[in-house]
Amino acid sequence: MAQTLTDIKALLDSHGLRPKHSLGQNFLHDANQMRRILAAAAPGPTDIVLEVGPGTGALSEWILEAGARLIAVEIDRDLEPILRDRVAPLAPDRFELIVDDVLEGKHTINPRVIEALRRAGPASGSTPPALPPFKLIANLPYHVASPLLANLVTDHPAMILAVVMIQREVADRLTAPPGGKDYGPLGVLMQAMCEVDRVATLSPGCFWPQPTIDSAVVRLRRRAAPLTDDPARLAATLHLVFGQRRKQLGAILGRATPLPPGIDPTWRAERLSVEQLVELSRLPL
Ligand code: SAM
Repeated sequence: MAQTLTDIKALLDSHGLRPKHSLGQNFLHDANQMRRILAAAAPGPTDIVLEVGPGTGALSEWILEAGARLIAVEIDRDLEPILRDRVAPLAPDRFELIVDDVLEGKHTINPRVIEALRRAGPASGSTPPALPPFKLIANLPYHVASPLLANLVTDHPAMILAVVMIQREVADRLTAPPGGKDYGPLGVLMQAMCEVDRVATLSPGCFWPQPTIDSAVVRLRRRAAPLTDDPARLAATLHLVFGQRRKQLGAILGRATPLPPGIDPTWRAERLSVEQLVELSRLPL
C-alpha cells in the first residue's frame, strides 16, 4: 500500500522527527509520479536495485512489491527504526539497509555499498568479485545527485539503468543538446556512456515539504557500446574545453594542434556534438 502524505507525516511524528532540510528531505507523496518512476525502471524479481535515500521507505515499498532485491542506503540514523519496522518485514530476505553516507568522498561510492552489491550477486570467480548488474532507482538528495551519477556511470559499468528524481536544472544539463548554456561536461559524459531521457517534470507540490524549485525524473540506460572506453580522459578533455567555454578551441588547445576532421579551431566547445567531443578526447592533448 502506497505511503500517503498523511502516512509519511504520521511515521515521522511517531518518532518525534521533522524533515531535515540539510539532508534534502523532501518526501515524494504523489502516487502517480511514483508509478511513473517504477514504470520507467521496471524493477522485477530478477533485479538488484540500489536506492539512495529511502527516507520513510515510500519508494522502497513499491520496489519490494515488484519483487526486486533492494539495497537501500540512508544517511539519517533517525529514520532507521521506520525502515526496519515498516519496510524490512515486507521482504526480509530481499531488503538490506545500510545506514551511512552513499559517498565516501566527492568522487567515490562508499565501499560498504559496493560490498553489499557484490554480495547480492551470484558467486563469481574473479578477484575482486565483479559487481552484478543493478539498477539505481532513487529520489535523490539534491547535493548528492551529480557526484553520485558521475561516479556510477563512469566507474561502475554494472549499473545498467538509473531512474532518478533530481533537480530540474540538473536534468536540463543531463539531457541538453549541443549549442545551449545547459550543454556541458556532466551531460556530455553521461550521454557518451548512456542514453539519457526525461521521464517527467514535477512541480514542488508533489513533495512535502515543498522545495523551492522544480524537479525532474531522468532515465539513463547504459549504452551497449559506450561512445568512449576512456571516460576519465573524456572528462579531463571536457574540463579543459568547457572550463573556458567562451574561448575558441584553437585558443584553448593551441593553434598548432591538429583537430579531428570536421572540427574548426574557431568553434567553441558547446558547438561540438558528443561524438566530436569524444574524438577530441582521443587527441594527445
Ligand atoms: N525516498 C524518499 C522519497 O522518495 O520521498 C526520500 C527522498 S529525500 C529527497 C532524500 C533522502 O536522502 C533523505 O531520506 C535523506 O536523509 C537521504 N540522504 C541525504 N544525503 C544522503 C547521503 N549522502 N547518503 C545517503 N542518503 C542520503
